[in-house]
Amino acid sequence: MTTVVLVIVLLATAAIVCTGIFVTLRSFRAENRTPVEAKPRHSWSNPHDAATTAALKHYFEGKQCASCGRTIPPVHAGELRPGLLNTNTHEAMTWDAIPAANLSATLASHVPICSNCLTIETLRRQHPELVVDRHRTIENSSH
Ligand SMILES: [Zn+2]
Repeated sequence: MTTVVLVIVLLATAAIVCTGIFVTLRSFRAENRTPVEAKPRHSWSNPHDAATTAALKHYFEGKQCASCGRTIPPVHAGELRPGLLNTNTHEAMTWDAIPAANLSATLASHVPICSNCLTIETLRRQHPELVVDRHRTIENSSH
């Protein structure tokens, strides 16, 4: 009698465990079945062809920023790029906005600025109400 009860309990336990495994596996499969939308990898946009990019890199190589006076670091993919500043209008031009056509004329009529100053000039132009000029230099910036 005890053996029969033990076998029934054992079979019931085995059935419950098997049902649990089945339900778990089915939910895993259902989860895998939903299509995963792969987002395109973020790539740094470069509107210029190889020759224009090379010409721009050569132009900025070793140049000093017209705004802060620091040497503009070499241009690497994935990093912030320097830009140009129109000395007449004081309008900043991002790397991407530098036109490939008439490149030499554009480079002649503008001065190079580093990526930091480009960001500052862009902010200054887009949100002049947020910018306060204090004319600090690096040496006395702690004051
Ligand atoms: Zn600068």
